[in-house]
Amino acid sequence: MKKMIAIVLAVLMLASVMCLASCGKKEDTLTIYTEAGFAPYEFVYENEIVGVDIEIMKKVAEKLGVELVVEDVNFDSITGAVKGGKADAGAAGMTITAERDEEVDFSIPYASTEQYVIVKADNAEIATVENMVGKTIGVQQGTTGDLYCTWDLEDAGLATVDRYSKGSDAVQALKTGKVDCVIIDNEPAKALVAANSGLKILETAYANEDYAICVKK
Ligand code: GLN
Repeated sequence: MKKMIAIVLAVLMLASVMCLASCGKKEDTLTIYTEAGFAPYEFVYENEIVGVDIEIMKKVAEKLGVELVVEDVNFDSITGAVKGGKADAGAAGMTITAERDEEVDFSIPYASTEQYVIVKADNAEIATVENMVGKTIGVQQGTTGDLYCTWDLEDAGLATVDRYSKGSDAVQALKTGKVDCVIIDNEPAKALVAANSGLKILETAYANEDYAICVKK
């Protein structure tokens, strides 16, 4: 229920912010950038990009009376595209971070979530997040999973980080033994483990965070 209220509030506030930015202009589309490998927030179903973020932005477009255009891009290009005006908004399970907040503006948060660690189901060595020391960690490039373990571990010479353009590519690297674990957001972690046999998620979260939609400052 709390999540629903946050989503409705986010829609209403975004619709008024985006109206300030574009009402009065002749634009009749709202172009959003996302990365459609992030179920249940955005994923491809029957050749269409669907998910929680798409539903939110459909409501915003409906309120503005414009057509929603959804572009599937690499996650790490989204804030730049929004900042540069190529996209009207980024809707991609995007975590509010201080660094991103300098580039773009964020809506109010609409979901609280965590970063989790995926390992092979028979992995006895990595039982807690502390056990990632000395290991090779797979992440999706430019995500908070990437940023946190780069700062916490790789920059301190404590682990190696391998970056992939999609979360599912990081999971494939885990299955083939190229990386020892994968750090990714809670819901996509569950979806990836459900779609791939022989994997499990560690019980303790690696980090807590909030999602919001980003727009140009
Ligand atoms: N929440 C993470 C971030 O903002 C991952 C988002 C994603 O991969 N779509 O970096």
